[in-house]
Amino acid sequence: MKRKAVNLQDVWKARSRIAPIVQHTPLMFSEELSQLTGKSVYLKLENLNTTNSFKIRGAANKILSLTDEERNKGITTFSTGNFGLSVAYVAKKLGIKAVICISQRVPDAKVEVLKRTGAEIEVIGDSQDDAEQHSYDLEREQGLTVIHPFDDPHVIAGQGTIGLEILEDFPEVDTVLAGLSGGGLHSGLGVALKNTNPSLRLIGLSTANGAAMYESIQAGKPIVVEEQNTLADSLLGGIGLQNHYTFQMVRQYVDDIALLNEKEFADGMLFMLEKHRMVIEGAAASGISAILNNKVNTGSNVVIVVSGCSVDISVVLKMLDNTNGLSTIDRI
Ligand SMILES: *Cc1c(COP(=O)(O)O)cnc(C)c1O
Repeated sequence: MKRKAVNLQDVWKARSRIAPIVQHTPLMFSEELSQLTGKSVYLKLENLNTTNSFKIRGAANKILSLTDEERNKGITTFSTGNFGLSVAYVAKKLGIKAVICISQRVPDAKVEVLKRTGAEIEVIGDSQDDAEQHSYDLEREQGLTVIHPFDDPHVIAGQGTIGLEILEDFPEVDTVLAGLSGGGLHSGLGVALKNTNPSLRLIGLSTANGAAMYESIQAGKPIVVEEQNTLADSLLGGIGLQNHYTFQMVRQYVDDIALLNEKEFADGMLFMLEKHRMVIEGAAASGISAILNNKVNTGSNVVIVVSGCSVDISVVLKMLDNTNGLSTIDRI
């Protein structure tokens, strides 16, 4: 069966559908990054969105598109991170039952955060795959609708609304950088940006500690990649061996993918803290990290998507300890 692709109109529809829940986030000029690069660099501050990441856009567009019957039966997802939080938030707002399936391996601190959202938590198995399987069991047995974190047309169209806002606020944009994991974000950005300006450059940043999309593109098909801990934990996770949408769309739209190491993610996070006084997570700092470390070629009108801020303050404090009081600029 050929599946219907996501088009620009879907992204515009998403925009009006999600407007009551989602923020049009600020696009902030970065004096510091612009001076450093000699280019105009702007930061799209999705860390300031509802639930502190862009994931609210895709989650809201998907859930608001469900039929009354589907809403009455409830929904389920298997994301422990920003997407799970966004699904729980939207479900609560609309009075829909939500079940988040997680494995026994998910750290207690994360489980506590998820519990506070009011969603039901089901702990099952000891891998992310087990949790995902359980969501699909609930769909079959109880009629819940699975809300997939990235491989879904409504989720993709929702994430694409970031692209519409960027074009509105900075029409001269020629390069967009953002963290790349399952590819929902880049698929949506691709539809919104490249259908408007085909010559715009879209650049993905992934973690060298588990770059499933990058490795899959190299292999020519979705593959499983071994993962290690990383400051950019929101960029971990497979793309699904049965990937339906994002693998093709990322291949079509993304011009370049750079892999970043732990020091590089730390550079971006510390730069944002020191120069712009904001705490953000590694995945969200990836665009800044890439520019500071000369990992990418950009045009002269650059937008970096600062995608979220789910990071334990203890991690940030430890990083600051390790810098011995030197500023990020001094170290690089
Ligand atoms: C999910 C996420 C990403 C990557 O988005 P994908 O659609 O999975 O590629 C990047 N940054 C943050 C903060 C995220 O939560």
